[in-house]
Amino acid sequence: MSVLVYIDHTDGEIKKSSLEAASYGAQLASQLGVAAHGLVLGTLNADLPALGKQGLQKVHQVKNDSLNQFDPGQQAAMVAEAVTNLGATVVVVSNNVTGKALGPRLSARLKAGLVAGAVALPDTSNGFVVKKAVFSGKAFAQIAVSSPIKIIALTPNAFSVTNGDGSAEVADINLTVPAAKIKVTGTNKIKGQIPLSEAELVVSGGRGLKGPENWGMIEELADLLGAATACSRPVADSHWRPHHEHVGQTGGAVAPNLYFAVGISGAIQHLAGVNRSKVIVVINKDPEAPFFKAADYGIVGDAFEVMPKIIDSVKKLKG
Ligand code: FAD
Repeated sequence: MSVLVYIDHTDGEIKKSSLEAASYGAQLASQLGVAAHGLVLGTLNADLPALGKQGLQKVHQVKNDSLNQFDPGQQAAMVAEAVTNLGATVVVVSNNVTGKALGPRLSARLKAGLVAGAVALPDTSNGFVVKKAVFSGKAFAQIAVSSPIKIIALTPNAFSVTNGDGSAEVADINLTVPAAKIKVTGTNKIKGQIPLSEAELVVSGGRGLKGPENWGMIEELADLLGAATACSRPVADSHWRPHHEHVGQTGGAVAPNLYFAVGISGAIQHLAGVNRSKVIVVINKDPEAPFFKAADYGIVGDAFEVMPKIIDSVKKLKG
């Protein structure tokens, strides 16, 4: 019996969300008194034994360059075979774009209950009950899973990465590699951008900034802090900013340690994508703006006066 964590990677590096999944899987394994294993499909530059720091005891790998390009059907078949061969009873994936494609396919193949969007370790005192966010993060549900094999898709940024001093054993595993059904003909990378879903810090702007020409201060603060940039939906709809920056109910969801909201009203549809941020700072000239109710720190003021002062202060702090 073991917990098997699917290790997701891009450009040869392990994604942060997979380090969270590994930390989660290892703690769950220790709670259940079983082994914690990882599965890597593809060839990585990353230091796989270092996954022991997150608590994995063993990492199984299929070294094959063709697997570096994620094909959900192909990889689901391989993970399912690994689960059967290794006798894993719980599979942990991140509920990121890869895990969202993998989880349901694995669930169908293994006839396993899937909890997509888990936010905490399961309660195993009486069965196997997993907490997940529902209704765009406005409520939580407790999902009891009774199937022999269980799949958990962990919400990114919901669980901290542990950093112990363990070292994982790495071993090749022999799995059938089915033909890929997806052929990638090209990729278009956004240079220098921190992916929003992985960002620890986010500086976000809304319609209060009046136009795209005023985004310099958002970008400057983001650069100084090493943050990703985001925006509200009308900003993306007006083509002031690219659509991949739009957060909220109909955009991306973020869960950074710090979400800096500038000139955003805080409509419920926007909050749905940002309400898992640990600390929210709001700058808005309207003291009645709804965002202040969700804010940890609020500055009532004109963004065009407040932002340059914040930027100056950060520059001074950085020396
Ligand atoms: P506004 O509502 O125009 O607010 C601008 C804010 O800036 C105001 O609070 C104002 O006081 C402040 N401001 C103005 N000037 C300044 C200044 N100089 N300095 C400081 N503050 C200033 N929205 C999303 O963001 N994400 C979504 O995913 C999303 N999905 C939606 C789905 C549906 C089905 C619907 C109906 C709506 C959705 N919306 C979404 C839209 C949402 O309801 C709001 O209309 C939108 O979030 C408002 O964007 P905003 O706060 O940038 O603009």
